Amino acid sequence: MAATDVLKPDHAGSRKHFIFTDEHQQLRESIHNFVVKELRPHAEEWEETTFPNWVFPRMGELGFLGLTYPEEYGGQGGDYYCALVLAEEMTNANCGGLGMGIAVHTDMATPPIHLFGTEQQKQDYLVPAIKGAKIACLGITEPDAGSDVAAIKTRARKDGDEYVINGSKTYITNGHRADFIVLVTKTDDAAGYDGFTLFIVDMDLPGVIREKKLQKMGMHASDTALLAFDDVRVPESAVLGQVGKGFYHIMWELQGERMIGAAGAVAAAQNVFDRTLQYAQERHAFGRPISKFQVTRFKFAEMATKIETARQMVYTTAWRFANGEYPVREISMAKLYASRIACEVADECIQIHGGAGYMKEYNVERVWRDLRLNRIGAGTDEVMLEVIGKSYGL
Ligand SMILES: Cc1cc2nc3c(=O)[nH]c(=O)nc-3n(C[C@H](O)[C@H](O)[C@H](O)COP(=O)(O)OP(=O)(O)OC[C@H]3O[C@@H](n4cnc5c(N)ncnc54)[C@H](O)[C@@H]3O)c2cc1C
Repeated sequence: MAATDVLKPDHAGSRKHFIFTDEHQQLRESIHNFVVKELRPHAEEWEETTFPNWVFPRMGELGFLGLTYPEEYGGQGGDYYCALVLAEEMTNANCGGLGMGIAVHTDMATPPIHLFGTEQQKQDYLVPAIKGAKIACLGITEPDAGSDVAAIKTRARKDGDEYVINGSKTYITNGHRADFIVLVTKTDDAAGYDGFTLFIVDMDLPGVIREKKLQKMGMHASDTALLAFDDVRVPESAVLGQVGKGFYHIMWELQGERMIGAAGAVAAAQNVFDRTLQYAQERHAFGRPISKFQVTRFKFAEMATKIETARQMVYTTAWRFANGEYPVREISMAKLYASRIACEVADECIQIHGGAGYMKEYNVERVWRDLRLNRIGAGTDEVMLEVIGKSYGL
């Protein structure tokens, strides 16, 4: 550098994070184009109707449902960061319920089949799920047990070479449309944490009852079900992973679920921030754009700092996760912080929009309603605080 050169801040740089390569960037562009062209135009309609099932085979055809799964099962063989790219880009559909329905399929219900499943289970469920020919859901929560997973009452009783399942699950995303469920049950009441077992259950078996479609505050494009299991008979081959180890298996699953939830929350916050920035530059009051009031500028500065902090937490934790660590404390921190700041950002963006922020037309109130779920689903804020606190031996 010559002595006469002047260093100026680079505010317009691409800021590609070091976990991402050019291939990730290409993937990002191709998902982005698909989301903007084929999904976003339907966002309003799907808020009323829930999103249609054709989205699964279409995304399967494009390879987006198996980004991180091996090619031998029809996946793309990508690394963990590809899953983050998908979660982030799906927020551009402006349709939180759609992103959630897809994420439950790709990053919540199918990872345990890939990690713990038998070869036959992978052929029967993972392969069609990657194609989008079968839709997956995940059943942990029950009417009487959410945060306290160990308190579930759904029982699977051994009867000859079959299991008989009885119980109920609630708030199940994709529950009405799913072809199969990854189900958490208790198989041995006396065994404590070693008394849980996962099953893969076909949703068309006798005794599987899809009770009602639940009405929600947000995420309207997703379907959310109350399910009952009434003497549902499944063969031993329906056990997923080890009998008695289901609690540990599902706790592992929840870590990936929380990472994806955190990545989606940061991306959704960035999305609503960007739209609000544009609005603030165009909207005038007292003879100037509202962005020229210091108070508004400070709001953006605060929001941008929070988003950037959350993003760094998510990416650094994802890097640990992708490199074989099991960083439960950091995942919990990232999930907690990203969910909280995303809600704060959405709330502030409503404020900056004024009355327009309260109107459906601007799609800020919907983001606010949709994001509120992040502080509850996949483990509440309080559960995250418990996990973090206990990780210090408290
Ligand atoms: C739209 C939506 C979609 C969902 N999708 C799915 C799905 O696909 N599959 C699935 O299995 N579940 C799903 N869930 C369930 C979700 O994971 C649970 O709602 C969540 O884990 C909280 O459980 P709960 O609702 O029973 O709340 P509760 O456990 O009853 O908690 C109530 C309150 O008590 C607090 N609390 C509980 N325990 C403690 C504690 N130890 N210390 C301090 N505070 C505590 C909680 O933080 C919360 O504030 C979904 C939920 C929603 C709303």
